[in-house]
Amino acid sequence: MDNYINSSIKLDLHSKINLLGLSKSDISRHLYNLGVEKKELSMRVQQLFSWTHSHGKKSFDYMTNLSKEFRDLLSKEFSISRPQIINKQISIDGTRKYLFKSENFGEFETVFIPEDERGTICISSQIGCTLNCSFCHTGTQKLVRNLEPHEIVGQISAVKDDLSDWCGKKNSTLKRAVSNVVVMGMGEPLYNFENVKQGLKIIMDNEGLSISRKKITLSTSGVVPYIHKVSSEIGCLLAISLHGTTDEIRNELVPINRKWNIQELIATLKSYPNLSNTERITFEYVMLRKVNDSLADAKRLVKLIKNIPSKINLIPFNPWPGSNYKTSEPEKVKIFANYVKKAGYSSPVRKPRGVDIMAACGQLKSDSVREKVLKKN
Ligand code: SAH
Ligand code: SF4
Repeated sequence: MDNYINSSIKLDLHSKINLLGLSKSDISRHLYNLGVEKKELSMRVQQLFSWTHSHGKKSFDYMTNLSKEFRDLLSKEFSISRPQIINKQISIDGTRKYLFKSENFGEFETVFIPEDERGTICISSQIGCTLNCSFCHTGTQKLVRNLEPHEIVGQISAVKDDLSDWCGKKNSTLKRAVSNVVVMGMGEPLYNFENVKQGLKIIMDNEGLSISRKKITLSTSGVVPYIHKVSSEIGCLLAISLHGTTDEIRNELVPINRKWNIQELIATLKSYPNLSNTERITFEYVMLRKVNDSLADAKRLVKLIKNIPSKINLIPFNPWPGSNYKTSEPEKVKIFANYVKKAGYSSPVRKPRGVDIMAACGQLKSDSVREKVLKKN
């Protein structure tokens, strides 16, 4: 955590507050300071929040139930800007990858995955990552900085703009394209806990985007001291990037294991608050040929997670230029998955999406490098 650049450093001089990153109580405090009367506060907050997060308006001019004078005041104090889409690629399977440029500094990626019954947006929590899991492309990029709450929410707002996915008179009865959120893009969300928490709370708020906590999954490589807070302070679902069943293998694949080993991780999960069969932990397990894909691995895995209500998501390794690993043979994956299934765990094999545009799990990496940022300072 020490080699972070403090993300609260404001490099631009134009410092309007971005509404996208403010909770309703934050907005209320700001409006009070701007002189809005106490008795009007909750109505004004609700109006502003709904225009911003439910209707997706980017300009105060559209907020027709607010007086012109009030709108002028708001536009002097706040912005509603999203990170700017500087590149968009659409895969043959419909997956979309967006490259964003922040109004602050740095570039990061977001992926939208349409499916029959739902649409999942995979958001980033950091630019780069301080951890360097050996099979992950993001891990080869040094951490540039933490994303701010408005950038976490803004990824969803910008994708919804692109998909025309806001509620409005014309399409108020249509099903929303973005129904689920996974925090599985660039970065380790639990190393940016407060910003991720603030962002997710905003997108869950039922006067805004109203995405239910059970449709949001946060994935961590295993930052043990913060794991319980995912349940107690955010309330969304939890996924753990396990990938190895012995410390020897996991130290190699997920080096954070040297800090918090498998035993500590599993002990933390066994006492995870509100664990139940309806709120299971997902274990992510990337299948790497001849590294972690044997039947002995499957047996150890089942033993490790005994008594933890969970499901196992087997992820075929997604190669990237320069990676040293190979994807497991389909037969091996089948044997592994069958063993886990027989032991009573759901063990779907994740279908890689957006491979042709390098948008699949672990393939995200932006060109932003820390050196560039340091030059700016
Ligand atoms: N930092 C968090 C969340 C982002 S990574 C974490 O590690 O959990 C999201 C998932 O993609 C993790 O399970 C990660 O291990 C997996 N992943 C990373 N690189 C991959 C690759 N090349 N192929 C398949 N999955 C990968
Ligand atoms: Fe970071 Fe997750 Fe990639 Fe590991 S897998 S380097 S924690 S983004």
